[in-house]
Amino acid sequence: MDQQTTASARIIDGKAFAAALRERIGGHVAALKAQGVTPGLAVVLVGEDPASEVYVRNKGVATAAAGMQGFEHKLPADASETELLDLVARLNADPAVHGILVQLPLPGHLDADKVIDAIAPEKDVDGFHVQNVGRLATGMDAMVSCTPLGCLMLLRDQLGELSGKEAVVIGRSNIVGKPMAQLLLRENCTVTIAHSRTKDLAAVCRRADIVIAAVGRPKMVQGDWIKPGATVIDVGINRIPAPERGEGKVRLVGDVDFDQAVQVAGAITPVPGGVGPMTIACLLANTVIAASRQNGIAPPADLAY
Ligand code: NDP
Repeated sequence: MDQQTTASARIIDGKAFAAALRERIGGHVAALKAQGVTPGLAVVLVGEDPASEVYVRNKGVATAAAGMQGFEHKLPADASETELLDLVARLNADPAVHGILVQLPLPGHLDADKVIDAIAPEKDVDGFHVQNVGRLATGMDAMVSCTPLGCLMLLRDQLGELSGKEAVVIGRSNIVGKPMAQLLLRENCTVTIAHSRTKDLAAVCRRADIVIAAVGRPKMVQGDWIKPGATVIDVGINRIPAPERGEGKVRLVGDVDFDQAVQVAGAITPVPGGVGPMTIACLLANTVIAASRQNGIAPPADLAY
């Protein structure tokens, strides 16, 4: 963690939490294997986007470390939609594959919505399929998008009971903001979703016991937007120039001005080392849940939500 501070907020150590979660998942995988089920995660990468290649490699390493089976499928950047849909259909039918993740973004000629829609909902470990979105919204068992799920785990760990808390989610994307708001609503928070058209965002934030920032704008949320003692979860990952590290170097910052907010908040996630490590851990958790459900086994209670 590279933020040095003398202020009072607890720094939420997502890296340590995710490591402990991965350890528990390893135990659940071993228990499933003892019942004849080896959880399998298939990751599909189309094209050669360097950032996506890193994500896919990291997912493969984490899958193996947890004792699961990983299946990596690479298609060329000019693969046709039919080729990709055929691959998804094969993975849907493969009993060794319990989770399917198609790495986004896809090359422009491929329709991501159509591809996600083709994934069997019970294998949709990213939680992006419209059936899973609907199931989450209506309070049914669902596969839940990994990043918001990770945020919820950190919040529960910090605060215990979330019922009755005022939560403000900044950002309304399908992969973070909206599912985050649904999860908080399910926890009986009073939820406000803010976005680019929200008027007086500072005032909206100031009433929140919980602030989730998922915007993609470096250090946008100021310290004086935070209610004293609030819990701040910073989802943002932004690269900004860091000339102090050498010419052309960058560093990662969140959507919250950490140095300001840490002096006001009760607890706050750093960037990096906060929400980021939770996303892959939750992908593994979702794969264990999917493998359990597909084999008529109750998912581990500590992974249930
Ligand atoms: P999107 O670009 O899809 O959504 C951003 C949201 O922020 C939109 O709803 C947009 O509003 C809102 N917004 C933009 N500008 C403002 C503003 N000035 N005031 C208030 N709201 C604003 O981003 P994602 O949800 O995909 O990602 C958000 C951030 O989280 C990014 O930095 C991303 O890198 C990071 N991220 C981190 C992950 C992790 O593992 N830690 C995983 C996924 C994302 P509108 O809808 O009105 O345009």
